[in-house]
This record gives sequence, C-alpha cells and structure tokens, in this order.
Amino acid sequence: MENFLKQDIQFLTGVGPVRGEILRKEISVHTFEDLLYYFPFRYIDKSKFYKVREIHPDLPYIQIKGSIKKYSKIGSGRGKRIVAAFGDETGTVELVWFKGAKWIPENYPPGKEIVIFGKPSAYNRKLNIVHPEIEDPSKIKKVRSNLQAVYSTTEKMKDNYLTSKAISKLQANLLEMLPAKFSETLPYWLLQDLKLVTLDLALKQIHFPDSVRDYKNAELRLKFEELFYIQLNILQKKTVRKTEFRGNKFSSVGDYLNSFYKKKLPFELTDAQKKVLREIRADLGSGIQMNRLLQGDVGSGKTLVALMSMLIALDNNYQACLMAPTEILANQHFMSISNMLKGMDVKVDLLTGSTKKRQRDSIHEDLENGSMQILIGTHALLEDVVQFSNLGLVIIDEQHRFGVAQRARLWKKSKVLPHVLVMTATPIPRTLSMTLYGDLDVSVIDELPPGRKPIITKRFHDNQRLKVFGFLKKEISVGRQVYIVYPLIKESEKMDYKDLEDGLESIARAFPPPDYQISVVHGKMKSEEKEISMRHFVEGRTNIMVSTTVIEVGVDVANASIMVIESAERFGLSQLHQLRGRVGRGAEQSYCILMSGYKLSDDGRKRLETMVSTNDGFEIAEVDLKLRGPGDLEGTQQSGIPFNLKIAHLGKDQQILTLARDVADKVLEEDPNLGMEKNFIFRKYLKKGSPNQVKWEYIS
Ligand code: ADP
Ligand code: MG
Repeated sequence: MENFLKQDIQFLTGVGPVRGEILRKEISVHTFEDLLYYFPFRYIDKSKFYKVREIHPDLPYIQIKGSIKKYSKIGSGRGKRIVAAFGDETGTVELVWFKGAKWIPENYPPGKEIVIFGKPSAYNRKLNIVHPEIEDPSKIKKVRSNLQAVYSTTEKMKDNYLTSKAISKLQANLLEMLPAKFSETLPYWLLQDLKLVTLDLALKQIHFPDSVRDYKNAELRLKFEELFYIQLNILQKKTVRKTEFRGNKFSSVGDYLNSFYKKKLPFELTDAQKKVLREIRADLGSGIQMNRLLQGDVGSGKTLVALMSMLIALDNNYQACLMAPTEILANQHFMSISNMLKGMDVKVDLLTGSTKKRQRDSIHEDLENGSMQILIGTHALLEDVVQFSNLGLVIIDEQHRFGVAQRARLWKKSKVLPHVLVMTATPIPRTLSMTLYGDLDVSVIDELPPGRKPIITKRFHDNQRLKVFGFLKKEISVGRQVYIVYPLIKESEKMDYKDLEDGLESIARAFPPPDYQISVVHGKMKSEEKEISMRHFVEGRTNIMVSTTVIEVGVDVANASIMVIESAERFGLSQLHQLRGRVGRGAEQSYCILMSGYKLSDDGRKRLETMVSTNDGFEIAEVDLKLRGPGDLEGTQQSGIPFNLKIAHLGKDQQILTLARDVADKVLEEDPNLGMEKNFIFRKYLKKGSPNQVKWEYIS
C-alpha cells in the first residue's frame, strides 16, 4: 500500500514524463499520494440544467443547455475578447472569453447544441458568464457524480491540457487502481467515537461525491485528521519539554525588582500587565524552562513587562538579553530601558551591527566575566563570539522576524537552558496561535494603559487628496508629525517604487521647504541613509516621513499623530493595523487616513471597513483570518502558515481545530509516549503533523 502511493506521478495512466514534470513544478504533486491529496476547492452542481430565464448573479456554478447564436470579437490589446450570445428557448445570455479561446468558435459553431458550465455574474447591469466550460451534451451522462469536483490549476497546466477536468480524470484513474485494502491513518476506536468515515471512503467521496452530505462527511474526516496530527505533534513536543527540560529556578524576587517597582515605576501597572507578570513569575520559579509567548497589541506596554522580567533574572544572579529585529528598535529599547533604570545600579548595554569594534570587545568581556547584566541588541547577539557567563532569560521582540532556528541558537548560549519570552504585537486569534505557537504557553495583555485616545480612522478616495493635504497642513502647523506610507509588495517592487516616487513629487510640491521638511525611507536606500533619514524624523527635524512599509515595526515617535496609508486596499489587515499602531502613542488625538481608489475588491472593501470600525487588534485578526480564503487558488501558498494545509482552514474550521486539540490532549494525557497498543497508528503517522518547510519569515 505505502509503496503503491509513493510511486512517481509520471507513471500514472494519463500522465507521462511531460505532464509529470508540470504537476511537480506547478502544484508539487510528485507521487500518487500527492495527487490523491490534491483536493478540489469547489464543486459544480450537475444535478440539474438551468434555463437562461432562471439565472441570476447569486447562483453558484451551474450548467445550462442551449446553443450559441453568434460570435463577435470586441476590443483590442488587453481588453480583447470573444463574446458569444448563448441561448435556449427562454432567452439569451452573453458568454465572454478574454484569451485562449480561438478554438471555441471552430469547435462549437452557432446552432450546435452544447452544455455550458459557469458562474453567472453581472457586468454593467447585464448578465454574463466569463470563461465558461463547454461540453458536448452526448458526453454528459458519463459523469461519475452529481457534484463535479473543480481543482485549481495554473496557466502552465492549462496550456498542457491539465485542466480541472483532466485532473478529475486522473483522480478517477488513480482511484480505480487503488488497492482494496487501504491503510487507515486513524484508529478505529477514534473513528467510532467521533463518527468519522474511513479514509478510503473519504478520499473517494472528496473527489467524486454522490451528494452534498457525502462530501461534507469526507471533508470533515480529512480536515480532522489533518488538524489532529498537527496538534498531536505540537502537544507531544510540549509534553517532552515540560517533563525533560530543566530550567533555572528563579526562586527569589529581590532588590532589583522591588526597588524598581517601588521607586522607579512612573505609573500604575494595568491589570493585564500584572496578570501577565504573575504568569511569568510562576514559570521562572517552577524549575522548568519557560517558553512563553507574550501577545499584546501595539502600545499595550510589553517593554515594561520585559524589563521587569529581566529584573527577576538579575535578582537571581543571572544575565538577561533582549533581541529586536532591527537596529532602530534595538536602539529604542535600549534608550527607554536605560531611561527607566536611571539611578539604579544595573549594567545595561547595546550591541548591534554598527557597534564599534572597541566597544564590542569590551561588551564581550563584560558578558563573559558576568559584570554585564542586561544586553539589548539585534541578531548581532547571535554571533558565536557573544558568550554569556550565565544567561538566564532571553526575550525576543516581534518574534516572526526571527526564525525558530535563530531562537534555538540563543538557547545554546548558556549551560542550562535560559528561559525564553517571545513578544509579539501581532494579535493572533486563539485557534491560530494554537497551531503557530502551540508549543509555547501564551500570555495576553488585553488592555491598553489608561488615558489613551482611540485613533480616529477615516477613508478617502484618491481624488480627495487636496482635502487630506489641507488637513495635514493644519496638524503640522500645531506641531504634529505625519507618516505617509506606500505599499511594497515583493513581486512588483519596481512598480511600487514608482508609486512612491510619483507620490513624493506631489507631496514635495504641496509641502515645500523651508516651511516643511520631508524624510524619505525606502528599500532601495542604503541602511545608513535610512537610519539618518529616520533619525531626522525621530528627532522632530522633519515633519513628514514618506516611506514604504519599512517603518511597520515598532518605531516609536510620540509626536507623530497622523498615519496616511496610500493604496490601503493593497495591504493585509494585520499590516494595516500594525501601521496604524505607529500613531496614537502620545497625548494628542491621532488619525489614520486610508487612501484608496474607487474600484475595490469585496475583500479590499471589507478590510478597509473593518479598520474604520474597530481599533481592537484581536477583532481585526479574527476578520483577517476569515477573509483569507484557503490560500491562493492558482498557487499553493496558505497565508503564511508553516504547515501545508491541504484541506483544513485555520480561520473557518475553528470548531474542528478545537476538537482536534481536545482529542490530542486526552490521548497524550492518558498515554504521553503513545506507547499503548490502541495508539500505535498515532505513533506511525505522528510525523504527518510536523511543519514541513517552515516558512516563518512569512508569518506576520
Ligand atoms: P508595546 O511595546 O507593547 O507596543 P510599549 O511597551 O512601548 O508598548 O508601551 C507604550 C507606551 O505606554 C510607553 O510609552 C510606555 O511607557 C507606556 N506604558 C506602559 N505601561 C503603562 C502603564 N501601565 N500605564 C501608563 N503608561 C504605560
Ligand atoms: Mg514594543
């Protein structure tokens, strides 16, 4: 069985070397098994034929029997298209093809009876169907099920006749060859408990369902299995860590923390900060290595929690370090922490890529002789020459910028594993963090310090720019600073850069010197230039900072109270929220202005509306997760999750995920090493749930 599934895809009937290569390259299907697990993303209802009179834009994919009355070629260049009037005895509707349709008029001449499949939509208040599939009515009877599976395909695949229909054909070939005795990947007792269908039935029904109910059952079984193994894997690792990874026991709270708390703390801690600190203290005192994720919206006061945690390490004669993803952030942490510790006898220093050699050498020495107590820095901290005499606590800010591997490197800097606290300002819905950070314990600061004025968010269209500029001038005249941000998306860097250049020109015209000064930061600048430009803004020497999204992470300029986001519809929700978090840090009323064109996709509009309607990062994260569909249909990427989810969707399948988590929890509670006979299948398939190619850098 295993051997059967591991066979090279090119040996499947109907594939061969050329298509095999395309399947490998385009959709990562290498083996029979990969194809079997290449699931449809939609089904066409073939249980009935619609009449033209009955169709409306709200219908899903449907089929209509009729004939083409006439073809016409319209437009030129990119807008060039073939339009056909298609009709039955009840009326006509337009069919439209934008490309690759030359062969259609030849194959389906006017008058010939055909069946079309497609999704009706409204264009200029007229109904049409774009890129319908066409079939000969005489062939229709042969479909294997009423619901016909639709698979995502790429242009390259279509060029080689690997259409959705062709994939379906291949699935049929494969299912026919499938051995009768199919290996089950979940134990029988579990299938029974949860009333799940068997794997072989699920695989058949997912590709060729007989009814909606059958496909739902198949889907549930496959989703559960996928999520279950991920949870089992994560939870098992966590169990191992909790029982086997000893940690330094920070049993006492001493002078450092106490005197800071009594004398230095400029304000009362919020209840959320207190709660989180209690959780951290309990971990540090437990004798088991802490691995905790600290989530808190921008401005919720994570730095203070970090500092107080480090002071506990110091109280127990250990060193602590804080690692930030950029030099600017490391600098800021260093400044604010040194500031808060002023008057206390704590040795703190900063180590980044631009620390001078002499300074660096002396830091290395002080670390090794133990006199350096807190070191703040960038990934420069990871270099091998950096050795601590006794590192007790590692804090990582904005973890997603660092890889897991980098985290592990920090652990090795000390004889006993240091405690680890990961801080992130990206709110993550609970179900998602169960998967992304399932091996970490989670603390949440769910409250902002008192007295913050909520940021006012408004949308404007591109042609209201003058009005927006007028508003900016008014705010600048009373001393505020402004960010203007342009999107930067990897694939179209050139175009984005041009957007920024064009925008900059009109900004410079509207805000001329000497009354106004502008800082510019973008990806094409050398990092020194960026630093200088950024510093001018931080120091208040410039009024406006025009940039691509490089300022996204943690820059803190209390006086900057306006964030203008250009082409806001092109940003993801969490990114918009991060950007907005750059303002609203001072006492002044802050504003976030979202600029966009009129033409927005539904999702784009929903994102902007969400931003206007709430400032709550967790609410935004939930909407974000729901909006991001099951990945990019033309490709394979699933919204930056380190697991290649084939069928489950972390946003939409929260109930199944919770169920999977609970079951995995119970299994491990009873049988931590999965040694029991009834659990042998789990042992066998445990690796199914490990992250494959971990793409941590995409998580944000
Ligand atoms: P984060 O890193 O979570 O985005 P910071 O730690 O930078 O947030 O805190 C944002 C601001 O709020 C800082 O100026 C900090 O001094 C202030 N702050 C933190 N905790 C409190 C509190 N309990 N009460 C009032 N202000 C606070
Ligand atoms: Mg911060």
